[in-house]
Amino acid sequence: SPLYVGLLFGGQSGEHDVSITSARAIASALNQNSRYQVQPFYIQRDGTWRSPDISQQVLDSGKGLQDSELLTDAAFFLPTEVQTVDLWFPVLHGPNGEDGTVQGLLQLMHKPYVGNGVLASSVGMDKIAMKAIFANAGLPQVKYVALNRWQWQQDEQSWSEHIEATLGYPCFVKPSNLGSSVGISKVRDRQQLKEAIASATSYDPRIIIEQGVTAREIECAVLGNEQPQASAIGEITFTSDFYDYETKYTAGKADLIIPSKLPDNVTQAVQSMAVKAFQTVAGSGLARVDFFYVEATGTVLINEINTFPGFTSLSMYPKLWEYSGIPFTQLCDRLVELALEKHV
Ligand code: ATP
Ligand code: MG
Ligand code: MG
Ligand code: MG
Repeated sequence: SPLYVGLLFGGQSGEHDVSITSARAIASALNQNSRYQVQPFYIQRDGTWRSPDISQQVLDSGKGLQDSELLTDAAFFLPTEVQTVDLWFPVLHGPNGEDGTVQGLLQLMHKPYVGNGVLASSVGMDKIAMKAIFANAGLPQVKYVALNRWQWQQDEQSWSEHIEATLGYPCFVKPSNLGSSVGISKVRDRQQLKEAIASATSYDPRIIIEQGVTAREIECAVLGNEQPQASAIGEITFTSDFYDYETKYTAGKADLIIPSKLPDNVTQAVQSMAVKAFQTVAGSGLARVDFFYVEATGTVLINEINTFPGFTSLSMYPKLWEYSGIPFTQLCDRLVELALEKHV
């Protein structure tokens, strides 16, 4: 009998549409293997789960539901078809999807699920927690200041002086718990700093301010459970001020270079740091680890780990594995195997 794979996609974050595109690519890969029977579950922007029939329509059209098609019911419930799922494949990015919340629900269902568990997901999504854990593991990072809205409002003047003295300008202001560069600003003076903090705290009461570095942006894919493998290294180039939301999601605004042309020792350092970061957050299945390579000094700094990276056919994560010898379809198979292996 086939393995019923529950494909979870859509979701409540700003990365809803990216998730639909990722899920379409994964569904068509899984459908090539007669061992799997894909059962799609679309999660509306308000968090409501939809049954496989309507979810399949969303997958086929590649577009989220229109307002008139939304199910509006204040009570949270799971569609009855959830009972037949043998293994879950959550294809969700951002808060309430990539941050351990959904992983906790799947864990309680006692069925295997693809990718990271509760701890790795929540630590990876929260930049303050992630950086504290990376620092503890000795992974080099940019200087930063962690802050919450209440602390900032108590004494804006002292915090501004502290940030200017320890980080200087330019610096980056970010919501702690987000992705896709949503809520992130690059700031160059006190006035911009205040505006950026007001913006970031509107997304999350916890924020982080980082020293800005001038660096090449490189990414490494990790695959596995206890003995994870690192892929070849990719690089992103663009002409915008930084890799912001528009640059990420407008066709033609950024180029992915695979493999990145780096000195051998830098490639090796990045790969070993990627595996170390993955193990440090207790990763399983997959992650994309992002770095800054400061060419002037030859320094590699870790920026972040993404526990469910973009997974469209054009995304860095599957492209890195394709280059490293694992085509998209095989990559999906491998993730299913890793989920089964972890669940025993
Ligand atoms: P993702 O979509 O990868 O999850 P994210 O929302 O978690 O992104 P970051 O990766 O932290 O955001 O930052 C987004 C981009 O902002 C980086 O790719 C880089 O271009 C720029 N950036 C962030 N922090 C810094 C920094 N300290 N110095 C220089 N550039 C930075
Ligand atoms: Mg991120
Ligand atoms: Mg992300
Ligand atoms: Mg990033």
